[in-house]
Amino acid sequence: MIIIASQNGIVGIGEAMRVLQAGGSAVDAVETGIRLVEANPHDHSVGYSGYPNILGQVELDAGIMNGRDRTTGAVGAMQGYKHPISVARQIMDRLPHVLLVGAGAERFAAEMGQARCDLLTPEARSVWANRLLQDIPQAGPDLSRLDALPDLWRWVALTTDPERADQVSYFESLMGTVNMIARDAQGHICAGASTSGWAWKYPGRLGDSPVAGAGFYADDRYGAATCTGTGEMAIRASTTRSVVLRLQMGLALGDAGRHAMHDLDHLGGRFLSRMSVILMDRDERHMGVSNDEGRAYIYQTEDMAEPAKTFYTHVPTRQRWDRPVNQDTE
Ligand code: ASP
Repeated sequence: MIIIASQNGIVGIGEAMRVLQAGGSAVDAVETGIRLVEANPHDHSVGYSGYPNILGQVELDAGIMNGRDRTTGAVGAMQGYKHPISVARQIMDRLPHVLLVGAGAERFAAEMGQARCDLLTPEARSVWANRLLQDIPQAGPDLSRLDALPDLWRWVALTTDPERADQVSYFESLMGTVNMIARDAQGHICAGASTSGWAWKYPGRLGDSPVAGAGFYADDRYGAATCTGTGEMAIRASTTRSVVLRLQMGLALGDAGRHAMHDLDHLGGRFLSRMSVILMDRDERHMGVSNDEGRAYIYQTEDMAEPAKTFYTHVPTRQRWDRPVNQDTE
């Protein structure tokens, strides 16, 4: 039995392992572990207190896949509910569908008895407001004209431009996701991901976390993978599906991971940035590959009293962040 998670999963990994030790399934463990991250008010990249989209609305994405039969549930751009991973699981268990977004996801969450919740904390609101007041004078001194801007698309690129960020830590906190993979006593594997996505994203933007095969994938026969980083890249390269397919084709874990990064390195386009992938084979061997040097993830097996930290293998890929807004407005 094992639980593997991104570092912010530290608040949930112990409880997820206790679920497995009590005889629970990999799916139960992943849902339990991720819920604790979604409820963590100090994590501004997942669930409650996540940073909002450009209009100040917190929109959450999450997905879960049961490797036993690859049943899947996912939600995208859902507002007003703290636990998208549980809504995703209920979609998997109760609907003939895989992915619900926006108002439909919210309606389903209510039908499932999930409690409504204001996700935007005063702290997250003030970081959002301060950034936008600096960058978008057209929005007015109190941002009251923001919603009426006819060219919101221009400002999305500007507000996330790392060259305009005051400090590196500010930019680092603008993205993030919780990734979790579990393998239970029966050998069943589950992969899940949950995020509030890019801070100041365009309303309705989905990342990789609600897209099966992009941000998460699990197949008991071969293994599992999850991603954190620039979701657009993982969607375009089908990153987690392609990792598991490489394992299926007989590649060693290290080769499967490195090939996935090399594939990302061949993407073109304007926005190429961070990407970190955790992968595990069906025998619980695991590794991470990342273009972000020095990054770590955590894992805990049933015989460990505490989780351990280990580093992703660094595989550099090209990074590019054009600034089309400034070029055609200044
Ligand atoms: N993958 C997430 C997204 O694109 C963000 C992140 O993990 O940094 O929404």
